[in-house]
Amino acid sequence: MTEKLFTTWQGHDLDEILLQCRELTEDPDYPTAKKWREQGGKIVGAFQVYFPDELVHAAGMLPLKMRGASLAPDESDSHFGSYLCSIIKTSLELVLSKRVELDMFVTHPICDAARNLAAIWGRNFDYTCQILYLPQNPNSSASVDYLSDEYNRLRRDLEEITGEKITTAAINNSIKVYNTNRELLRRLYAIKRDTPWKIGADDAYSLVAIGGMMMREEHNEMLETILPMIEAVETKQEDRIRVVFEGAFCEQPPLGLISTIGQSCYVVDDDFLIGMRYLLSDVKQTNDPVRELAWAYINDSSYSPVQHDLNKRKEHMLLDRFDKARGEAVIVAAAKMCEPGLEEQVAYIQALDEKNIPYFVSEFEENMTSFASLELQLETFMENILFA
Ligand code: SF4
Repeated sequence: MTEKLFTTWQGHDLDEILLQCRELTEDPDYPTAKKWREQGGKIVGAFQVYFPDELVHAAGMLPLKMRGASLAPDESDSHFGSYLCSIIKTSLELVLSKRVELDMFVTHPICDAARNLAAIWGRNFDYTCQILYLPQNPNSSASVDYLSDEYNRLRRDLEEITGEKITTAAINNSIKVYNTNRELLRRLYAIKRDTPWKIGADDAYSLVAIGGMMMREEHNEMLETILPMIEAVETKQEDRIRVVFEGAFCEQPPLGLISTIGQSCYVVDDDFLIGMRYLLSDVKQTNDPVRELAWAYINDSSYSPVQHDLNKRKEHMLLDRFDKARGEAVIVAAAKMCEPGLEEQVAYIQALDEKNIPYFVSEFEENMTSFASLELQLETFMENILFA
């Protein structure tokens, strides 16, 4: 099974490639997953935020990021109460409407809605639907052992699907592929931070997002071609405020919203799709790679409102992100009805107030389509900073 899943970008100029990446990101039919299945491949869908994709990759299956889609939850709506975030509904919609077909689904107990998703999902499909219990208390001395066991439980489930053992060598090889991917994503974020005028916020987002829809070596190959093209862009810097966007750790804002923000300011860092960049440096390849993955999640990772680590107070982490990105303001956002995200806004705002850092508070929903009012509010906010 060697045919690539996304090839139409090859041989085109940067603008055309970025256009194709945006279209793929927004396509609710997940064409790369379809192509993978047509070639006989199996797919494991994992719910948003962090997931050890390397284990699925090592089993020879496609790890698919279930990040919902901008579509109406026609079939899934009746499975949930009304006061829930959108990503829960549209992720289920993707499979109920047969846009995406899976061989296994894994969610996390990051909030009540996500915790209950496996049970609701499982009632509608014959394949395994389960919860991966990432440790609630990463500060416990037992957390790495515990998480290694949890990953090995997942590993056994994956082996049942393929009928083959996942070898240590295969996991180490997958770690190598993912280390390269994380390094390339860090390079993309360095461009955003140091020369944000070279790439639009929505284009940078799409380049990351499509990695969750294809085998990561293919994504690596793409990024290795495209990053030098972006680095070579010659465009003048504009007089725009440098902002950090916080609040997209789980449900993602629509591309139109990211584009609207990017037209008013430079987004120099953010937590968009943070799960794909959660591990901060290379994971070691050893004779117990599962433990290395668990160690990295506990000891060498970013932050989000759904991991409660006393050594990584989220408001301190935000200030650190802001300083490193040389930000001038923060957009503190949250998905509508997202309890963890809305709760965390309080701590973020307090910390920003204490440091006199300007911030803009906002809510979003993945299927919103009108951004005119946000644009106006943002412009006023930016003008206040520019002319203060
Ligand atoms: S967006 Fe918030 S409420 Fe919805 S599943 Fe994610 S963490 Fe839970």
